[in-house]
Amino acid sequence: MSQAIVFQNARLLDGRSPEGEHDRFVRAEGGLIREISDKPIRDSGARTIDLRGRTLMPGLIDCHVHVVAGLVNLGQNALLPDALVAFHAQRIMGEMLARGFTTVRDVGGATYALVDALEQGLTTGPRLIVCGKALSQTGGHADFRGRYDNRDADYQTRRLGALGRICNGVDACREAARDEIRQGAQFIKIMANGGVASATDPIAFIGYSSDEIRAIVEEARNAQTYVAAHLYTDEAIARAVELGVRSVEHANLIEKKTASLMKERGAIACPTLVTYEALKNEGESLGLPAASVAKIDDVRLRGLESLEIMHDAGVTMAYGSDLLGPMHRHQSEEFVIRGRVLPAIEVIRSTTIHAAELIGMTGKIGVIAPDAYADFVVVDGDPLADLSLLTGQGRHLPIIVKGGEFIKNELN
Ligand code: ZN
Ligand code: ZN
Repeated sequence: MSQAIVFQNARLLDGRSPEGEHDRFVRAEGGLIREISDKPIRDSGARTIDLRGRTLMPGLIDCHVHVVAGLVNLGQNALLPDALVAFHAQRIMGEMLARGFTTVRDVGGATYALVDALEQGLTTGPRLIVCGKALSQTGGHADFRGRYDNRDADYQTRRLGALGRICNGVDACREAARDEIRQGAQFIKIMANGGVASATDPIAFIGYSSDEIRAIVEEARNAQTYVAAHLYTDEAIARAVELGVRSVEHANLIEKKTASLMKERGAIACPTLVTYEALKNEGESLGLPAASVAKIDDVRLRGLESLEIMHDAGVTMAYGSDLLGPMHRHQSEEFVIRGRVLPAIEVIRSTTIHAAELIGMTGKIGVIAPDAYADFVVVDGDPLADLSLLTGQGRHLPIIVKGGEFIKNELN
């Protein structure tokens, strides 16, 4: 059992109030936050750290990652041996934790075996929430075979490096959703629109029939969970939300009316703008196929506008990054990009309380409150005044704690 921790004179910032709270004392023990007070907490057995002048935040949460994406070319990634993919994932997760992300939601690729490896302490990384393989129709966003590759698509289903699996028709979609849940999926991901990284589906393509999506939503609900969908176009988003999709990934091309529909239905958006900037700057040189490079600007150019439209409609937005291969190092830059059009406190909420709501762990993560996990980052300064303090590979985060264990402590 880890030693108790007492943080003194901390300015707390978890997004529940617009400014946070000053001069607070926080005690954590046994992996959980136990007590928060405006008066000093005495615990002679605890490791006591003074945080005057610094900000104490809950551990950051990223709701859109692919920890198995060691390569930018996802078709090649799907063909790598599982052992190699697992070591890539280990490195990618370790680097995420070093950036202060203590929870990540993997939206395609990671299997429960990785969750198990983390829980057994075989490797170190953020809390990992998985959907197993994303479901895609033939020729959809997780079909990486390309035009002249006529292999049976089934090879993807059991490869750790594949982000998705192919299923078509209501019965096969139900079976695939049930199969992912059997294997430990905590939600279901579907590809309901064309995408950048896949070869044969222009952005505007609609993925899956309404009947197929309805069936998958029912399967997810039967398993007490929800469906997240890869979506760009206004038409595709509106249809998916009407059919019961709860987690709207990307949403770059959304219009006002559909944003209002999302608000009305309680759907949550997970924009991922940083990946389009990274793909634009580095994709080609890192092996992104030419057909994909040509599609980047179709979604990149509308990114900031989509944030404004959703913010104006009152849509809840969670933090996402969606980076691949060596571009993972840009994970925290999404904070700064969003800060160009959104109030800083909204950007903070995306990685704390809003992310926790999307993941279904409100009160356990993304919050500094009794009974929440003792996941913390200490920020040198005030992230509300300067969101770039959250970037730089954790350089401005002298302390990172996950589940009451110090991942990093430069203060004592
Ligand atoms: Zn996507
Ligand atoms: Zn993605």
